Amino acid sequence: MAAQVESSTFDVVVIGAGLAGLACARALKGGGLDVVVLEARERLGGRVHSVDVDGVDVELGAQWVHDDAASHPARKFCERANLKLRGTSWEQAALVCRGERRPGAEIKRARAAAERAFGAARAARRTAKADASLDDALRPLLAGADAVTQFFVRLENELDYGAGAEELSLHHWDKDEYWREVKSSKKGGDALAGPLASAVAALSEGLAVRLGHAVTAVETGDDVVRVRGDAFELAARRVVVAVPLGCLKEGSMAFAPNLSPRKTHALAAVGFSRFEKVVLAFAEPFWERVVGRRHVIHAPSDAPLPRFEVFFSLNAARGTAKAPHVLVAIVGGADATAAEAEDDATLRLLVCDALDAALGTAEAARHCRRMLRTQWSRDEFARGAYSYLPPGATPEDYDALARPEHRGRVLFCGEHTSRKYPATMHGALLSGEREAKRVLGDLGRG
Ligand SMILES: Cc1cc2nc3c(=O)[nH]c(=O)nc-3n(C[C@H](O)[C@H](O)[C@H](O)COP(=O)(O)OP(=O)(O)OC[C@H]3O[C@@H](n4cnc5c(N)ncnc54)[C@H](O)[C@@H]3O)c2cc1C
Repeated sequence: MAAQVESSTFDVVVIGAGLAGLACARALKGGGLDVVVLEARERLGGRVHSVDVDGVDVELGAQWVHDDAASHPARKFCERANLKLRGTSWEQAALVCRGERRPGAEIKRARAAAERAFGAARAARRTAKADASLDDALRPLLAGADAVTQFFVRLENELDYGAGAEELSLHHWDKDEYWREVKSSKKGGDALAGPLASAVAALSEGLAVRLGHAVTAVETGDDVVRVRGDAFELAARRVVVAVPLGCLKEGSMAFAPNLSPRKTHALAAVGFSRFEKVVLAFAEPFWERVVGRRHVIHAPSDAPLPRFEVFFSLNAARGTAKAPHVLVAIVGGADATAAEAEDDATLRLLVCDALDAALGTAEAARHCRRMLRTQWSRDEFARGAYSYLPPGATPEDYDALARPEHRGRVLFCGEHTSRKYPATMHGALLSGEREAKRVLGDLGRG
């Protein structure tokens, strides 16, 4: 199909309608600019994706607002749609192994031991090589540790960073910051709100967004920047690229002229993690006989990959006993990669078997009414979950990903451009506002 070339020139074209792109477009529109958002998918929100499972909101992408301080940008994003936040914590989880419920104190003890190991790994930075991995430091520290402590260390890496310790930089794995901008705010816990899709809808209100517009090329000429897809071509004074790091890494979009060597280096250096969810809706909350209305953690598991060890209970999170009874199994790193490779039927059996193994039951498959799964790494408009720093990468690589190209006419936002808050919703939102400010200043609207 021949591309439809539009004759008018926009002030700004934003590519990608995730939180970063939408926050950027909103601020640009607020500054009086003529802006259009091009989104490849047939929906808004990118890695924020809410679905309805028999009347219950389930988040297939981002779920937690990390820290519940009143000034938190993701909290404000939720409040725009009147979403109330509900705190969650590890204290709502039960540790079980083959039906035997371990004392809650065991979670506390193992988590404290894991924290001490992470503290010792931080101390080991002083003498470690620049390209040392977290695993280089943790392996000797954990050699004599009990299995539950080792499990919590692995879990924290895989679920927080979507990567194993050997994939994470010893020097920088934990350099992302909690939200602490308000002096009076104590560090809060993680909180849930939903459906986040309604907050996305509120953020996009009044914006010109074209769905089903996958951009394949960004070309900067003397006067304007041209943005092309298979069936369209637009021109703008500035272009903001708000697509995931995974898409930029695989070169899904051609840039002419080429991106700078520093940007190209950073694209290769910063990692893009794996994190997947398997949602199970049950007719009976049979696990509550063993653990009560709690999340289920199965540790330590010696099963082959993919290991399903954490089952998040939406009933526990919502504080209700009402049907439907939904558990969300979450996996990161190598387990996520292995899970993604399974077909639906096998995956369903594997997850049900893992739940039965944890609980000492043999009824999960019988009660399971429905399974939903994510495949973020295979998703051509995501290609992974979120950014992290592997051995050898540095926080300056995040800065390089944020730097404009093409003599300042092509700009970049997204969680992977946020040195302080990567891999989060608030990092994405703030990065969009950052680039809008840059464009507004540049075009004399600041
Ligand atoms: C499973 C999972 C769980 C998570 N959990 C949390 C959490 O609990 N808390 C938290 O704070 N964060 C979490 N995150 C991270 C959070 O979702 C992201 O940091 C944030 O949503 C990223 O926003 P973004 O705008 O940078 O990118 P995206 O949301 O990915 O938006 C980019 C947009 O660009 C579009 N696009 C891609 N290619 C093209 C193209 N060629 N042309 C046009 N459009 C294109 C995509 O379709 C997408 O809509 C999670 C992420 C995942 C995957």
